[in-house]
Amino acid sequence: MSDSRPPIYVTKPFLPDLKEVMPYMEKIWANQILTNGGPFHQQLEKALCEHLGVEHIALFTNGTIALVTALQALRVTGEVITTPYSFVATAHSLLWNGIKPVFVDIDRDTLNLDPRKIEAAITPQTTAIMPVHCYGHPCDVEAIQKIADNYNLKVIYDAAHAFGVQCHCGSVLNHGDLSVLSFHATKVFNTFEGGAIVCPDAKTKQRIDHLKNFGFVDEVTVVAPGINGKMSEFNAAFGLIQLQHIDAALQRRAEIDARYRAELADLPGIRCVRDSGEKVANHSYFPILVDAEYPISRDALYARLREHNIFARRYFYPLISDFPMYRGMPSADPSRLPVASEIARKVLCLPIYPALTDEEQGRVIEAIRGACRN
Ligand SMILES: *Cc1c(COP(=O)(O)O)cnc(C)c1O
Repeated sequence: MSDSRPPIYVTKPFLPDLKEVMPYMEKIWANQILTNGGPFHQQLEKALCEHLGVEHIALFTNGTIALVTALQALRVTGEVITTPYSFVATAHSLLWNGIKPVFVDIDRDTLNLDPRKIEAAITPQTTAIMPVHCYGHPCDVEAIQKIADNYNLKVIYDAAHAFGVQCHCGSVLNHGDLSVLSFHATKVFNTFEGGAIVCPDAKTKQRIDHLKNFGFVDEVTVVAPGINGKMSEFNAAFGLIQLQHIDAALQRRAEIDARYRAELADLPGIRCVRDSGEKVANHSYFPILVDAEYPISRDALYARLREHNIFARRYFYPLISDFPMYRGMPSADPSRLPVASEIARKVLCLPIYPALTDEEQGRVIEAIRGACRN
């Protein structure tokens, strides 16, 4: 059976009306500042600090360069404890710094790094922990900070999924030493490509600003082997426009999330991953776990959806620790990562994005329910 209706992808980037973009372009053309911390770059940093409820933010060309730079800024070396259940850029940022990733298993409920398993992985070489707020669900930030304090470790959160997420003490981005955001096209808030580092003090932001501009402090002074990580004026201007639409976008995501939960609740073997108790969620993904009670396997459901022209994604499968540059490491052994390995076999992320229509969401739900009637 093949479906002739239009394809539904796991996500679709939010784009404002092109008419809204033109006045910003005209300003860039008029003042001829294209990059290097121009006026839109400064405006977006300020606007994001206010919107997110954070003190300082440094914009980047993408989230991966921001992760690499965050590790440089804190002079992290040796070994870093991280999760295998994430997008591959999390661990790649460690390899780019010559750091050895040490994978630790995840918690079965939150799918985030399990704080109870961190201590056993600490060695004299460990200098930091890099957890991920997976799907925008906050990590157990208190437990992680306690371990970091006891062992004098830095904490850098990969917060690529966590734009706008608040735990009970305010923005989740205020935890740890640094938090890194991604504004990639597929993320909740996008600037085409983009990213940022959230930092607690002006001095750290200044160091990061030097590092993202080749290490330049002034015309003749270079203080570090920095990289080119700057966000362009186009991306920054686009971010300012996106910010005007973000509340409506998150509202629509919340509706889609609620309907999936309601209409999949009674299906045997389909478990919707719960949030981890955040005060404000961003519904950046809609992961379900396909258990043995469901009539077909996860991969068969994935294929069935494709036959219906629905492109769900198996985030995060394979685990990072299963890729060739990691799998030889002792901590990458699947027997040490039983929860992450099981979840990677069961997970499927369903389409969720502001422009998903009720009819389209109905198609997704119907295709999943249909397997139970065969
Ligand atoms: C998207 C993503 C990144 C990388 O961000 P880019 O902006 O695409 O470089 C890093 N970590 C996680 C968890 C991500 O989902």
